[in-house]
Amino acid sequence: MVQFYLEGERITEFVAHLMNRKTVYAPHRKGRKSFSFERTENAADVVLDYPRTMHSVKKYFLPPREELLTFDLKENDFETSDIPTCEAIFLGVHSYDLAAVGRLDYNFTVGSPERNYLTRRQDAIFIGVSFEPDKYHFSGSVGIRPEDNTGCDIFLTKLFDGYVLEVLTPTGQDLLEGLDLPAHEAGKPATGHFHQHIFVPQAKLSEIMESSYNNPVWEETADQCVGCGTCNLVCPTCYCFNVEENVDITVTKGNRERHWDSCMLRKFSEVAGGEVFRESLASRQRHRIFRKFKYISDQTGQPWCVGCGRCTAYCTAGISIVSIVNRLIGEYERAAVAPI
Ligand code: SF4
Ligand code: SF4
Repeated sequence: MVQFYLEGERITEFVAHLMNRKTVYAPHRKGRKSFSFERTENAADVVLDYPRTMHSVKKYFLPPREELLTFDLKENDFETSDIPTCEAIFLGVHSYDLAAVGRLDYNFTVGSPERNYLTRRQDAIFIGVSFEPDKYHFSGSVGIRPEDNTGCDIFLTKLFDGYVLEVLTPTGQDLLEGLDLPAHEAGKPATGHFHQHIFVPQAKLSEIMESSYNNPVWEETADQCVGCGTCNLVCPTCYCFNVEENVDITVTKGNRERHWDSCMLRKFSEVAGGEVFRESLASRQRHRIFRKFKYISDQTGQPWCVGCGRCTAYCTAGISIVSIVNRLIGEYERAAVAPI
């Protein structure tokens, strides 16, 4: 693996170099405290040192709303919509968001591979960057360190005055052609530590979830929850969507669209006849957490939460996923040692 030194003062030059090669999506500042992945128009607007973006890069592969097909009722015909690939560089991606892309790759590949996601995703180039965990991150507890470069073509590790730039794939090597960077011989600095932890591995969590189906934590959390669905909409591994058909005013033509949906919304589990099979907020909270640490995890052995902290950071009611899980762990362990 080749390592270079990217001086802090040369970051704009580095971004401009990448922009000459391909479209670059990268974190940009939004307002005082927020950050967002955006198409880069000005290299100087890119921010590599940021806590988290509100939405992950998922939005480029699974857009919040997209057309699936158009139909003609007179001709009794339909045409599937063209899907362009994201042949672009995704710069400044944190390790947990890359891990989330890996989870989505699994979800959209098992069973019937899903054309739209996989087409958009296939030519993406990733340049990761290390991060300093804040009070919401806990990816270390699900096996994802800030310096984890899995899935990256290039990875940047923060130094005091710049970055160690590691070239990880031939694509990454090709991107640097024409950019003269000094070699970095020294090692990489240790990254920061996490302030939030889940203290048991996934195999144990699965067992704990199994025994927590009727735990009062679901009702108590539901008492605070307003059922807004924000936790799902900001989650990089949530992928549920709704499909709608729209017919134009002539009632001869229309389209079919899909848009992000949320299992925390009452309507999500409404079926034909008006039956809602997860009517209570408590059952929706349980379902959300079980989707992250039980249902898919039982099949894959991996947590489907990547510890980004978004659902806690942006929760309208201040509900913490780490607190819920740690409470379940604590009660499970106390029950295990309690005298019979
Ligand atoms: S973001 Fe918070 S308040 Fe909104 S549905 Fe999720 S847990 Fe409930
Ligand atoms: S469940 Fe919460 S912490 Fe886990 S990946 Fe989703 S948004 Fe991030």
